Amino acid sequence: MEARWSARTTVGRVRAPKTIVCVDCGGTCHLLAHPETEFDPGDPVAYRCADCVDRWDLVMADDEDGGQGDEVPGAL
Ligand SMILES: [Zn+2]
Repeated sequence: MEARWSARTTVGRVRAPKTIVCVDCGGTCHLLAHPETEFDPGDPVAYRCADCVDRWDLVMADDEDGGQGDEVPGAL
């Protein structure tokens, strides 16, 4: 039994959230890049907080549903 999302043609590309919550002041940080920009896993994504004007760089996660990375921690 295999369930796959065949509509996905790009491999591992992710779209960053438009806003995140500032860990410093709890304000809203807005994405500096275009909202439809797609990032590769490991890419830094810059945000700026509307309240404290701090800049945050998130690193896109490798994936959200199952590991396909080239580094597999020795499980067996
Ligand atoms: Zn802030």
